[in-house]
Amino acid sequence: MFLKRANSKIVWLIDLDDTLFFSGGKVMSTINSRMTSFIQNELSIGFEEANRLRVEYWQRYGTTAKGMQERHGVSFQPFLSFSHHLPCFELYIKFNPYVGKVLGSLIGRKYIVTNSPKNYAVGVLKKNGLLRYFDEVFALEGMWINSQLRCKPARLLWQRILDKTGAKKPHHILVDDTLANLRTAKYMGFKTVWMREHFNKGQVHAKQIFIRPRYVDFSVLTIKELIKISRRLC
Ligand SMILES: [Mg+2]
Repeated sequence: MFLKRANSKIVWLIDLDDTLFFSGGKVMSTINSRMTSFIQNELSIGFEEANRLRVEYWQRYGTTAKGMQERHGVSFQPFLSFSHHLPCFELYIKFNPYVGKVLGSLIGRKYIVTNSPKNYAVGVLKKNGLLRYFDEVFALEGMWINSQLRCKPARLLWQRILDKTGAKKPHHILVDDTLANLRTAKYMGFKTVWMREHFNKGQVHAKQIFIRPRYVDFSVLTIKELIKISRRLC
């Protein structure tokens, strides 16, 4: 694995939820429910309105936490601490058995880039034996730029990642299920892979289009297809 890393200029930027595993199970529904509950209490509104805001902010800002901060001045940390307080949550997340083998086969450096909190991302990967395949985890806490939270799909985040990796723009490959993230990454000069393995399982994506947009270089139905792409690009 180290030889593969040393001999390649490629930098894989890989999303976590709904890219490496299906997040719509017990864990994500519990996180969503706790987020809605927090919003209800914080804004003194009913369940339906709070739930609508949770989804709206997630779609508009890339993460509900940022929407709560920008629109209501709610501090980021109490919101995430409450919503992601799930004892033993890692036990409920199941990756497909081939994910580790695929990650181990990809040539180049690999980074997780997720709008989720770091303890959640690291916990999930570690519990499933996948953390060792990644050079670093870029999570929400590391997305503060100029005192602003710049999570995916912000171009400033991609620029920060470029600065960190030191690699050229076309050597970065973003693998993500969310089209908004792929669009800004493509405009930055990255290569883009639209991961659709878990795409149509969740209700949040139900209205999204299924044709390949022009800013998507590769559209894949399973993570296994990344091996072919890796061979082609490296
Ligand atoms: Mg995702």
